[in-house]
Amino acid sequence: MADIRVFGAGIFGLSIAWACARRGAAVEVVDPHGIGAGSSGGLVGALAPHVPENWNIKKQVQFESLDAAEAFWAEVARAGGEDPGYARGGRLQPVTDAAALALARAREGGAADLWQGKYSWRVVPEDDFPGLLSSPTGWLIHDTLSARMHPRRACAALAAAIRARGGRIRAEPSDGPALEVWATGAAGLEELTQARGRLVGTGVKGQAALLRADLRDAPQLFAEALHIVPHADGTTAIGSTTERDYDDPTATDAQLDALVETARRLCPALRDAPVIERWAGLRPRSRSRAPMLGAHPLRPGAFIANGGFKIGFGMAPGIAAMMADLVLERTDRIPEAFRPEASL
Ligand SMILES: Cc1cc2nc3c(=O)[nH]c(=O)nc-3n(C[C@H](O)[C@H](O)[C@H](O)COP(=O)(O)OP(=O)(O)OC[C@H]3O[C@@H](n4cnc5c(N)ncnc54)[C@H](O)[C@@H]3O)c2cc1C
Repeated sequence: MADIRVFGAGIFGLSIAWACARRGAAVEVVDPHGIGAGSSGGLVGALAPHVPENWNIKKQVQFESLDAAEAFWAEVARAGGEDPGYARGGRLQPVTDAAALALARAREGGAADLWQGKYSWRVVPEDDFPGLLSSPTGWLIHDTLSARMHPRRACAALAAAIRARGGRIRAEPSDGPALEVWATGAAGLEELTQARGRLVGTGVKGQAALLRADLRDAPQLFAEALHIVPHADGTTAIGSTTERDYDDPTATDAQLDALVETARRLCPALRDAPVIERWAGLRPRSRSRAPMLGAHPLRPGAFIANGGFKIGFGMAPGIAAMMADLVLERTDRIPEAFRPEASL
């Protein structure tokens, strides 16, 4: 019999189930669509921080989660024997003009302080990373906090780790009572919106592409709002569009072609790289834009973990630990800004 029943086998549900299983709970994950069937089954997997300034609780929690990611994914890999594709390879961003250069240099100190001396944000000459990213000023920002994971492999690795601890992943819930955690992504936010009769959260569509380009040892790139994320398997992902209006949440179109063209212009190494997959999904975005964690607004006694929006992969280790504390130990360390009430 399960102690904890998690609905939703995306990165939130699987990470929470794993965090509970590693503490000894009997867990069951229920998803009629399978593992990584939602937003978490995508291609990109950038674990990237906000700029190190104007610090707030969201940035602090995100920093702690990114900081915890290496140990989190290493333990998942050890427990289940599957590789989540995690690596802390850093990130490059172009510096577009003199004002941006001054700002980027000012942030070097902010990073040293706010990132606790563990990671750096430095302005470096473009020549330090030849052929990767052209920058109008000849300068790049290089941070060493950014990391990557492979979304689908990370979901599979979590599933393997959960099973290795005796947990189950099923299409339908088993009989018997259990503490419930609802991590059902965009569908869960739409359910809340319907029940409340006003916007509580929704799915925001994103399209991404995978190119055959082996940049596995290079940092990820971020330019013109585009993430270019090299994976360890000789592929490089690029993403993403942000679409509030759409007919088909899983269709790709000319907007993705435009992204691919931008990526080829920005990164010479991608110029002739063939596109091997196109993908689209719905990011779960709460009204507050922050994660939504705590007591479920519609289901008495149950919990919710939703609203990962654009940084769900990066937030997963931190959120999983917070939710395991809440569900298993009734220790509530959820910041006010992350409570469901912030979006109700
Ligand atoms: C194009 C794109 C690129 C992205 N890139 C990044 C990135 O680089 N870095 C990053 O950090 N984030 C990124 N994101 C965001 C990230 O994908 C999401 O924040 C994250 O996947 C959300 O995880 P989730 O588990 O909450 O939701 P989901 O992965 O959507 O999982 C929800 C699950 O619930 C299941 N479900 C629905 N209804 C039920 C039910 N009634 N019972 C049981 N199960 C149910 C679904 O089948 C699904 O598997 C990207 C998103 C997109 C779309």
